[in-house]
Amino acid sequence: MKKIVFFIVTTLLLVSCGGASSIEVSENQVSFSIEGGEKSVNVTADGTWSVSDSPDWINTDAQNGVIIIRTARNESGAVREGNIVLKGKSGVEATIKVKQFSKCTHITAASSKVEFEKEGGTETIAIDTDGSLQVEAPEGFSASYENGNLTVTAQANEGGAKRGEIKLTCDDQSATIYASQKGNVCQRCGGTGKITCPKCKGKGLVHVYVNPEFVDPSIVPDQQPCEKCGGYWDGTTEYTAEWRQGSGHIKCPDCGGTGTGH
Ligand SMILES: [Zn+2]
Ligand SMILES: [Zn+2]
Repeated sequence: MKKIVFFIVTTLLLVSCGGASSIEVSENQVSFSIEGGEKSVNVTADGTWSVSDSPDWINTDAQNGVIIIRTARNESGAVREGNIVLKGKSGVEATIKVKQFSKCTHITAASSKVEFEKEGGTETIAIDTDGSLQVEAPEGFSASYENGNLTVTAQANEGGAKRGEIKLTCDDQSATIYASQKGNVCQRCGGTGKITCPKCKGKGLVHVYVNPEFVDPSIVPDQQPCEKCGGYWDGTTEYTAEWRQGSGHIKCPDCGGTGTGH
């Protein structure tokens, strides 16, 4: 009996104390954002292993079957890279490459716009980024970022419709969220539903250049009906009974002609 116990104990000791002859890691490389953090990599080995080398900006914690890798915020101003080397018995190693960015690498918003009714309210947009985000909200809106969410608030709007751009920046990355809020009155047309025709500047007629080399200027009018605001002319040298002058205004593109806030 003693012999058997001795045998079992020595076998256990041999297995547990013997350096691994094979080490496999679940990930050959890990990367950290500028902010740093903690990541763990699974280690499969047939014996003992230890961390034989690691960059000085990395903190490792080798546990049973896993290595936990930690790093603080990268204040160095440059991307840093290094290797963590796990060692088993002589000549048996596994390497995990580690990289940490020095800048924010992306800002990805789940939506590029946020819309409010005139009553106002609060909306949230999920943001994926790896740095510290700066948020700038336009007049009439307030916005803040925390834990992956951009929260945008608009107060009740008694005036005209509002719109603006929320600017998100993080180092040299940037993103824009378009914010809008309906109002009582369309801001662009002041509630009339119409705006001055941009082509004829409200005149209803547009000046056209008549090349005297090809066309007799006396029979082709140099002012022709503005088609953009409803004018019509069939192109004959004389205005026929059907021709009409443009109204000088077009449907407001902001409110679609309703004059109401949107
Ligand atoms: Zn309008
Ligand atoms: Zn016009």
